[in-house]
Amino acid sequence: MPGRRPTSSPLERYLASHPTCERCGDPSVLVDHVIPHHGDDGLIFMRENMRAVCRACHSLLQDKDSAPC
Ligand SMILES: [Zn+2]
Repeated sequence: MPGRRPTSSPLERYLASHPTCERCGDPSVLVDHVIPHHGDDGLIFMRENMRAVCRACHSLLQDKDSAPC
């Protein structure tokens, strides 16, 4: 809807409270999921399954399990 700001998602809020990469300490830009979520909302929004990472670490993690985010 034009003019409406999207509400921040739980992922964005997690990232805001975890501003540094949990692997290397660089500024975090993405939330990685420890357990691949495959579209499962329960896993996507489970805080214990979230890990703030920088882009470099995220691509390394993606290579590891080759699952799309
Ligand atoms: Zn990193």
